[in-house]
Amino acid sequence: MNENTGTCRFCGQNRIVDEKYKKLPGEKRDEAVTNACTCPEARRAVRVKEQIEKARNCINQLCGEEAASIGISPIKTEAIEQMYAVVDSIANGNLRSATLQICSRCKVVIGLTSKGTIKVKRTDSKTHQLEE
Ligand SMILES: [Zn+2]
Repeated sequence: MNENTGTCRFCGQNRIVDEKYKKLPGEKRDEAVTNACTCPEARRAVRVKEQIEKARNCINQLCGEEAASIGISPIKTEAIEQMYAVVDSIANGNLRSATLQICSRCKVVIGLTSKGTIKVKRTDSKTHQLEE
């Protein structure tokens, strides 16, 4: 083990890292080797990571600050953190879907599709009512 190699976190294989990762701390080199490793566990971990990133991106577009650009109001950061937690659970196989009722008018459903992707659906129902 020297500063040019890293170890896959799953199968323990040592590899020489790409030029750009050389001289980085051991942890970073291990990460680079793990991400590039072809063992089944490492590949699964990469898929899970990608799934989480994509779903978080959907949440940000539908519920975060970016939502304002498509004319819907952003949801509180605390609720978005809960959505991220749901995404982690789904990506890791602990949940299939979850519905978060944000307020009386707004709900967000996060679930695994048959294609294995994570879908985020936000429903806002607007009721206008007056009483005098
Ligand atoms: Zn491996």
